[in-house]
Amino acid sequence: MPDAIIVGGGPAGSTAGALLAEKGHDVLILEKEKFPRYHIGESLMPYCYFPLERLGVVDQLMESACPRKYCVQFVRQDGSLSQPFYFFQHMDHPASTTWQVVRSEFDKMLLDNARNKGAKVMEQTRGRKLLRDDIGRVKGVEAQDADGNIHMIEAPITLDCTGRDAFTCTREKWRTKDPKLNKVSIWTYFKGAKRDPGADQGATTVAYIPEKGWFWYIPLQDDVVSVGIVAEKEYLYRDTRDHAEIFANEIKKNAWIEEHLSEGEQFGQYWATGEYSYRSQYCATDGLVLVGDAFSFLDPVFSTGVYLALSSGEMVADTINAIFQDDGVFTADKFADYGSKFRDAVETMRKIVYAFYDENFSFGKLIRKDMELRGPLTNCLIGNVADQDFTKLFQTMAEFADLPAPVGYGDVLSA
Ligand SMILES: Cc1cc2nc3c(=O)[nH]c(=O)nc-3n(C[C@H](O)[C@H](O)[C@H](O)COP(=O)(O)OP(=O)(O)OC[C@H]3O[C@@H](n4cnc5c(N)ncnc54)[C@H](O)[C@@H]3O)c2cc1C
Repeated sequence: MPDAIIVGGGPAGSTAGALLAEKGHDVLILEKEKFPRYHIGESLMPYCYFPLERLGVVDQLMESACPRKYCVQFVRQDGSLSQPFYFFQHMDHPASTTWQVVRSEFDKMLLDNARNKGAKVMEQTRGRKLLRDDIGRVKGVEAQDADGNIHMIEAPITLDCTGRDAFTCTREKWRTKDPKLNKVSIWTYFKGAKRDPGADQGATTVAYIPEKGWFWYIPLQDDVVSVGIVAEKEYLYRDTRDHAEIFANEIKKNAWIEEHLSEGEQFGQYWATGEYSYRSQYCATDGLVLVGDAFSFLDPVFSTGVYLALSSGEMVADTINAIFQDDGVFTADKFADYGSKFRDAVETMRKIVYAFYDENFSFGKLIRKDMELRGPLTNCLIGNVADQDFTKLFQTMAEFADLPAPVGYGDVLSA
């Protein structure tokens, strides 16, 4: 019997897996795909550096061809660029430079790292059902491999790291959508599109289109750019459901995007997703804990997803390791602190996302009102959100934008 079963080998699962295996625990990662596999979510936040450093993969990233991301920049609807947020102006640390990653390679690097540290990985093996004991505590997972074999695997603790498939949330009906962040996204790739000069060539650009929709523009290696639109479904699908047509129409709505893409050539398919921004009512029950997107997904405008996956993977590994050192009994209550820290990080970022979508808000207005807010705001944009006091930032932000009321979720559920 392994000490821990991890369902899902994305950044959350492979982080938790590597850190638990490093502590000598017997870890089994079940991953339904064969890596490398495609994934969206290419722009990292500076604070990813710290979990990546702990995982021991920073050198690999330093040597990689991944474009360096020194800043995030915002482009107004008229195509004009606002002052970029350069991370190095805010922090004097190697973490101020981060990366734009091809996720198939990045995720494989992290999964291999878990494997190298001793985790056993079963790819093409899908978690199908939670196994429970007679009083309802989770005792493992039923899984199916590529040959159709069924495996009944038991362990003291199971980690749900299944990303937006949200294995537990979906089955247990724990998922709540965020009614205000009910967006859809369409994205594709361009070769040879324009890059800005110097330090800005690896920047993530967020470019507005009407009604607070936006484009992301993320330069990747091999002269490829990832370009996506996020907006209300009614807005994007108002004339046609053809993704290529929608894309072509929206490009014309922002001069910066149009100019940058005029030099490039679109290739490959158009991808689309809905199911934006949700959270789980519970973060854990006896014998089971939710990590990364399996717990909560937030609109990706500030590139929070991978950071939250890495940091929750790290937090949960530390929690599990401490429980093993104590009595090795994985009751839900022992994850209460983990759940509230994870929720607080998401909630901090959710406020900024709400402000971003508010017609009355702009970063410029906020900073002009109080220059000192640039510091805490940049802390949010780099992922430095743990144990920070953002009271003044959100008080001032609330003068320009309707911020979300606090919501209770992510509690623990005892059997
Ligand atoms: C349109 C869009 C744009 C985004 N842009 C960004 C961005 O720029 N920057 C950023 O940081 N984040 C971004 N994200 C978010 C980011 O993709 C995720 O937050 C991140 O991948 C979460 O990592 P994870 O490990 O929790 O889940 P995932 O990376 O999704 O990994 C989950 C793994 O679980 C496996 N799995 C699922 N179900 C099962 C099962 N039943 N059994 C076994 N295995 C299973 C999957 O195959 C997958 O490998 C974006 C998301 C979207 C939708």
